[in-house]
Amino acid sequence: MSTPFTVMKFGGTSLEDVSGFERVAHLLRSEVASPPIAVVSAMSGFTDALVTLPGLARKVGVAKAAESLEVHFERHLAIASTLGHSSASRMRLVLESARNEIATLLECCCDPTGTSLAGEAATQDAISSYGEMLSAYLLTLVLESLGSHASYVDARRCIKTDDAFAKAQPLIESTVLHTRMELQPLLNGKRLPVLGGFIGSTRSGETTTMGRGSSNYTATLIGSALNAREVQIWTDVNGVHTADPSLVKQARTIPYLSYDEADEIARLGAKVLHQGMFEPLRAQQIPVYIRNSRLDEAQGTLIAARYPDPSNAPDKSIKAIAHRNHLVRIDVCSTPKLVDNRYQSTIEALLRKHAVPLQIVSRTAAHISLACDEDAPVNSVVEDLMHYGAVEVSPRRAIVGCVGERLRIRTGGYDRIATILKSFDAELEWQQVSPINLLTMIDASRVVPLLKSLHREIFEN
Ligand code: ADP
Ligand code: ASP
Ligand code: MG
Repeated sequence: MSTPFTVMKFGGTSLEDVSGFERVAHLLRSEVASPPIAVVSAMSGFTDALVTLPGLARKVGVAKAAESLEVHFERHLAIASTLGHSSASRMRLVLESARNEIATLLECCCDPTGTSLAGEAATQDAISSYGEMLSAYLLTLVLESLGSHASYVDARRCIKTDDAFAKAQPLIESTVLHTRMELQPLLNGKRLPVLGGFIGSTRSGETTTMGRGSSNYTATLIGSALNAREVQIWTDVNGVHTADPSLVKQARTIPYLSYDEADEIARLGAKVLHQGMFEPLRAQQIPVYIRNSRLDEAQGTLIAARYPDPSNAPDKSIKAIAHRNHLVRIDVCSTPKLVDNRYQSTIEALLRKHAVPLQIVSRTAAHISLACDEDAPVNSVVEDLMHYGAVEVSPRRAIVGCVGERLRIRTGGYDRIATILKSFDAELEWQQVSPINLLTMIDASRVVPLLKSLHREIFEN
């Protein structure tokens, strides 16, 4: 049995200014039937500034780099000031602590005697965490000023992770335990907990972050720990679209997706979701709604274990087109050695060794193509692959993929897409790497025309 609680997550795009905070507070306060738990991202643009801060400090010095954050601190203070003198003073105090703590952390980064790489990564995460902590604190003030019994919660006390800084993985049992311990007394006391997404802490209490865009993951981890009724992700678009609506104007909302489809769309790079975010919800089958915080009457997308009414399922084989940029393509022409060792086990061994997110995009008996994030240590992967055959590396690549459960039973969609692709480049090949995707790799500069053309053919006819 699920509990009556709803987890409501608001991204940075919903929290960019005073009217954003007001809208978010209104949405939280109107959720009367199921008491909400708020999970928030940093105010838009703040995490980018925090992530680049140590690099900037090394270039221009700690004082100048720290100064560059003032514009963001000012945004927080300006919103708190609209709430009255007391809220403004409280925000000012919290900002002052953040300012001092960040400056100390920056001194560590720039210490000429040098810290270890692991130490640097830990310091970076500690710095990055301030965006979420400050926006959660500010939203608590906004809610209090409206008369809500809201409580700021330090998310690091709930989300427990390993120590893979910048891409930490949650320790599920420990997270469930700590989340319940922190949040249940507040919920029992009819208070509205507000916590930052993205951040966690190790067993020994060091601050970690779970990767860019991972506030969505925080929301589903909290939802699962509390066995919530549902998780709502409030963003700047009306749900998950048939393609990224910022690139394809004709893209439209997909009313329903299964966990598997949504997972695949996230894996292929759709920023509105986050890879892995559905995992914590599967066993309890907790539904996720993706909604627009600026247009709450729009229906959005429901993501759940199965189609609500199977007899009414759409017959489109393809639900969405997604793309992932900033990839390097690695082609390996197989040798007997690669074939003998079997692709799968060879690649899996490489993955374990380098901890690099490698993805197979095509394979034949003679040839294998892999995609790798361009900021991953590509060279060391390539060095290892050279033991197995001739290796070719192509930078600035992107994957474009079509996703839909019904691809499992291969409808006519496959042929239609192959035809369109040929008009772009006869050499491009669609690969069905998983039962619910069809993907191809192209030069990054050609992504947008390809998306538009595919969208026209698949969804606009
Ligand atoms: P938030 O601040 O709410 O986390 P993000 O900017 O991280 O918002 O994610 C929302 C953005 O995701 C949208 O503005 C849109 O440009 C992008 N996006 C990419 N693919 C899709 C898609 N298939 N459907 C909807 N949005 C998408
Ligand atoms: N603020 C973090 C980021 O910008 C996390 C998030 O928004 O989900 O990546
Ligand atoms: Mg996001």
